[in-house]
Amino acid sequence: MTVPFGSDKVSPAMPDKRVYIKTFGCQMNVHDSERIGGLLRNEGYRLTDKPEEADMIIVNSCSIREKSEQKAYSDLGRFAALKREKPGLILGMAGCVAQQEGEKVLKRYRGLDLVFGSSNIENVPQMIETITLRSQPIVMVQEPPGPPRTTPAVRADRVRAWVSIMEGCNRRCAFCVVPTTRGRERSRPSADVVEEVSHLAEAGYKEITLLGQTVNSYSGAPGEGKDFADLLWMLDAVEGIERIRFTSPHPADMTEKLIETMAVLPKVCEYLHLPLQSGSDAVLSRMGRGYTMDGYRRIIDSLRRRVPEMAFSTDIIVGFPGETEDDFRMTLKAVGVIEFDNVYYFNYSPRKNTPAAGFEAQVPDEIKSERFQRLSGLEKAVAREKNRCLIGTKQEVLIEGRSKRDRSKFTGRTRSNKLVHFDGTESEIGHLIDVRITAASSTFLEAVRHRDTV
Ligand code: SAM
Repeated sequence: MTVPFGSDKVSPAMPDKRVYIKTFGCQMNVHDSERIGGLLRNEGYRLTDKPEEADMIIVNSCSIREKSEQKAYSDLGRFAALKREKPGLILGMAGCVAQQEGEKVLKRYRGLDLVFGSSNIENVPQMIETITLRSQPIVMVQEPPGPPRTTPAVRADRVRAWVSIMEGCNRRCAFCVVPTTRGRERSRPSADVVEEVSHLAEAGYKEITLLGQTVNSYSGAPGEGKDFADLLWMLDAVEGIERIRFTSPHPADMTEKLIETMAVLPKVCEYLHLPLQSGSDAVLSRMGRGYTMDGYRRIIDSLRRRVPEMAFSTDIIVGFPGETEDDFRMTLKAVGVIEFDNVYYFNYSPRKNTPAAGFEAQVPDEIKSERFQRLSGLEKAVAREKNRCLIGTKQEVLIEGRSKRDRSKFTGRTRSNKLVHFDGTESEIGHLIDVRITAASSTFLEAVRHRDTV
């Protein structure tokens, strides 16, 4: 039986089994877990948040930095111990570590039944069938032929939905493990993406975030001749969807056509997360990023000229091999000059099978930590200032639910992706309202209803 697009219903004829999915890493992994949950739901599994009551446990791993990989292994060890007390439990590892290590994980953790990579999520039903019939462990880490297939998903959010539009990455950034864990780029046919988004609109979703490792190098199915800007045009026409976001684009794929498209399409939000990684051209070149600081600035300036209210966030790697104090100061300068609304920053973590892990002049941990602290201080000050500039302005907010920090308040995001807290009601969740910003910190805004103030 197939339940399309993650409907809530499990067939009454199906046995009631439970799956616990532990997710590490980026938004793509979060959505991959939603897709694993969707496929397992079709096999009669309900999600549980209690590993001890699960019939199946999947650890969806991330290998982008060493810490996340270690955490996934540590959880796997814990769940393998649980399996010794509950032999019927099916234990699986998915995601980038699973893809990278394959058979080796199976050897390391006795009791593991299932190891599969991100490109093999669509094979989950087949894997479950094989385990049930043969009760032998399975490793599936080969990319299936053809473009990625549409899979159902159990989505955590009722208002905003992730939509994966492509798999893999063709770039070769010297620090990044993704090309070896997620394989070459494979884009979904545009008609499949439009169909999925139309179903989401029918189900009441208002906002979609398109996902891809280099989302803006989307190319449609082989021979389709569609680029990312074309896809945005097609999705902007889907009735019921009010907001379109995407992550992560690569600066080298920010074409003039895409910039123009972002500026003119009404549903594409005034927000761009554009990973910079470093403000130094020498470091960018050693990273193999394919752009200079000047080129990056041109993209930001071009978008700001067309859409002055556009907000920008970025990723920075601190302490890439060979990064000097001068290089790092150029990064600090870039954060201040560009005035990013938000910066996600990470200490460089050497990864197996990546060129930078073998580079000489690895930066000592103490220097990385000291630079990290300096960047953190600057980022908070810049973000606070940017947010303060919004006090008194009117903003459209999509109501997401109750605020996590104060359950008496509600929370939502502006089109520029700023988190806002305000008074609301349960029945308003999923609605767009206008608010007036009254207070700002570096990470969120407070607001009152716009009508209350006129
Ligand atoms: N594909 C995107 C790009 O590179 O433009 C980013 C995707 S990656 C999941 C998210 C971020 O993790 C990267 O932008 C980078 O800042 C960080 N990252 C990747 N590899 C890293 C490493 N080896 N050490 C530290 N940070 C890393």
